Amino acid sequence: MKKSLFTLIFWNLCTVLFLTSCQKNYAPEFNITHINEMKSMGFNTTNIKRFKENYIVENDIIIDVSKIHGINLSKVTQTSKANLIPNQAITNQPIVNKLSISVGIDPSVSADWITAITNAIQIWNTIPNFKLNFFLGSNNNSDIQISYSNIPGDEIAAGIFSNSGNVGSAIYIDPLKSTIDAGHRQLIITHEIGHTIGFRHTDLVSESGQYFQIAGTYPSNNIWPNPDPVSIMNRMSNQTNLLGRAFSRFDRIAIRNTYPLDEIQVPFYRYKNVGKHLYSTSWSELTTGNLGWTYEWAEGYVFSVARAGMSNIHRYWLPSQNDYFYTTNYNELGSGKWGYQYQGIIGFAPTNQISGSVPLYQFYLPNHGHFYTTEYGEGPSNGYTFERVVFYVMSN
Ligand SMILES: [Zn+2]
Repeated sequence: MKKSLFTLIFWNLCTVLFLTSCQKNYAPEFNITHINEMKSMGFNTTNIKRFKENYIVENDIIIDVSKIHGINLSKVTQTSKANLIPNQAITNQPIVNKLSISVGIDPSVSADWITAITNAIQIWNTIPNFKLNFFLGSNNNSDIQISYSNIPGDEIAAGIFSNSGNVGSAIYIDPLKSTIDAGHRQLIITHEIGHTIGFRHTDLVSESGQYFQIAGTYPSNNIWPNPDPVSIMNRMSNQTNLLGRAFSRFDRIAIRNTYPLDEIQVPFYRYKNVGKHLYSTSWSELTTGNLGWTYEWAEGYVFSVARAGMSNIHRYWLPSQNDYFYTTNYNELGSGKWGYQYQGIIGFAPTNQISGSVPLYQFYLPNHGHFYTTEYGEGPSNGYTFERVVFYVMSN
């Protein structure tokens, strides 16, 4: 059927009006297609700026226009791991080969910043069971190049967001804004490295109003305006206590859950419910909290596959007390005893100390039931009586 001239004019007019209405908030140098792509990936484009041929969103995240299709980020995911780390086969042997990422520093960068970069690399490399290993490489042939550049806006540095399965290839420092202390410099570089491997800002909700959350991060009782006030990936304007700051407890969980070296290490998630405690190896069981339980943190890591020297972790539940009990010795309670119901094997753990592991202490207090912690002092200070080391967990 032949379209009438009126219809064509009508639709063209609508298109013009539509584009105009979308574009009215952006200066002509912004490409509306790019803006919409960034929005569709959940980036907040308020105060978006152009930087060289690219964009800066959320003050310090550089979106590489040439690789914008490679960011591979949905509106609701917190990281763009993309293909940076191929999933590895589950094996019986501990995984030891890390993926090395070189960091090159332009010769013009000052000694103060080189110290900050060196310290930031060290901070990243101290995360246990972290797949990536950063090292100082040559200036012009490294995975991440760090150099000076004037950055629009107030930020002192900005990093290219991970894309196409690669780390973001550059971090820029604005030399005109660098009159800051050593702790601040170190925090900034640690933060920008986070963007280059695909971590968003912790303290930013999407334009549809939801948090971007990684399994095991911030508890449900921490709500807007900041779910994790000490996250190193909070926007720089929301950072406090700059001196010598490292990762928050939840940053470390997020990093390990996103980039595990040995993928069979799984968090031993800890929940509380008034005086009771529950531990789970499955984030989906209670996520940030459900059925009266509130998520606290990971009380170390256990294993999803048994290796030599590891035993089954059996979980039992006493409904009358809402008490959860854990043991590696099935014969203690068998298929259920004294009211305890058998809930099955929830993972595997060494029963003797191995490299990187710490004891998990079992305590008991009548009416509160069993309590498990790697911090011995937590037991007595809450009135609990020590019973035993139940097994070992990999340290946080
Ligand atoms: Zn940032």
